Amino acid sequence: MDKIYDVIILGAGPAGLAAGLYAGRSRLSTLIIEKGKDGGQIAITDEIENYPGQIVEGESGPSLIARMTEQAAKFGAERVTDVIKSVDLAGEIKTLTGNKDTYQAKAVIVATGAFPKPIGCENEGKFIGKGISFCATCDAAFFEDFEVYVVGGGDSAVEEAMYLTKFARKVTIIHRRDELRAAKSIQEKAFANPKIAFMWDSVVQSVDGEDLLNKMVVKNVKTGELTTVEADEEDGLFGVFGFIGYNPNSALFEGVLDMDHGYIKTDENMHTNLPGVFAAGDIRVKSLRQVVTAAADGAIAAMQAEKFINE
Ligand code: NAP
Repeated sequence: MDKIYDVIILGAGPAGLAAGLYAGRSRLSTLIIEKGKDGGQIAITDEIENYPGQIVEGESGPSLIARMTEQAAKFGAERVTDVIKSVDLAGEIKTLTGNKDTYQAKAVIVATGAFPKPIGCENEGKFIGKGISFCATCDAAFFEDFEVYVVGGGDSAVEEAMYLTKFARKVTIIHRRDELRAAKSIQEKAFANPKIAFMWDSVVQSVDGEDLLNKMVVKNVKTGELTTVEADEEDGLFGVFGFIGYNPNSALFEGVLDMDHGYIKTDENMHTNLPGVFAAGDIRVKSLRQVVTAAADGAIAAMQAEKFINE
C-alpha cells in the first residue's frame, strides 16, 4: 500500500475502535487493521453489565461492539483484515508488514488485547473443539442438556457459567481455591442459581476420551485426592470451559517495546518507549482491564497520536 496514514491502529476491540472513532473525529487519516472478528474478548462475552449506559435488557458484547464498529466507520476510519507479521516502529514512518500488504503511518496505536490462557491439564490440546472451549457464547449451544464444567473463579468464569446454565442441565465450577475471585454481585447470582455446583480447591489434572471428551481427573489441591469425572453413559461427552485469565497478544513487539510479563508499558498518556507508538486496552500494563478502561485508553491514545503528529 503506497498511502502513508496519519495513524494505524492494530486491533479492533473496544480500545482500537474507540481510538478509531477519536482519530477519525480529529480528521486523521486512520487505518484499523484487525486479523479476525471485531471485539476481541467482548465478541465472546454474553453479558456486559458494567459498561456505562449499557443497561438495555438482552444486550450482549457482540451488539455493543457492532455499534462501536459502526461509529468508527462513520467518522472515516478505514479498515483492513490482515495478520501483521513484522513491524518497524523506530523511524518517523512506521511500517507494519502483513500477510497481504505493507502498511505505513506516522503513528501507531497497539490495541492487540489478550487471549485466553489454556487450562494447563494433560491432553488439553487434543480436546480443544472436542469438548474443551474458551468461549461460552460460541459453543454453549453444543451442550444443550449436557453437563459442563467451568474452570476458574473470576468474573469471566462465573458470568460464563451463568450463561451456560441456559443450555446445559448442570454447570460445575472448578476453582483452585475455596472462595471466588469474582465480584460479589456476580457471586450472589451464581450461588442462587440451582443449576450451578462447585468443586472447591480443585484443578483439572487430565482430560481424556476416544474422540470427544468424556473423562477427566480432578485433583483436590489441599488433600491430593483425585476424582475421576466420567460422562453420563447416555450423553457420551461433557464440556469443559476454561476461563482462567488471559495472555497478552504482544509477541510481535518483543524486543521492540518495553514490557512487563508480556504487557506493554506505557505512561498515563499511552506513550510507549518509542515516539509515535502508543498502546491501549488490555495489552498494556494496567490495574483494571474492562471495556470502559479499554475505550478510555483508545480515546487518550488517539488524541496523543494527533498531538504527536501535529508537533
Ligand atoms: P481473573 O480475574 O484473572 O480470574 C482468573 C481466575 O482463574 C481466578 O479465579 C484464578 O484463581 C483462576 N486461575 C488462574 N490461573 C489458574 C490456573 N492455572 N488454574 C486454575 N485456575 C486458575 O480473569 P477473568 O475472570 O478472565 O477476568 C479478567 C479481567 O476482566 C478482570 O479484571 C475482570 O474483572 C474483568 N472482567 C469483568 C467482567 C464484568 O465485570 N462483567 C467480565 C469478565 C471479565 P485465583 O482466584 O485463585 O487467582
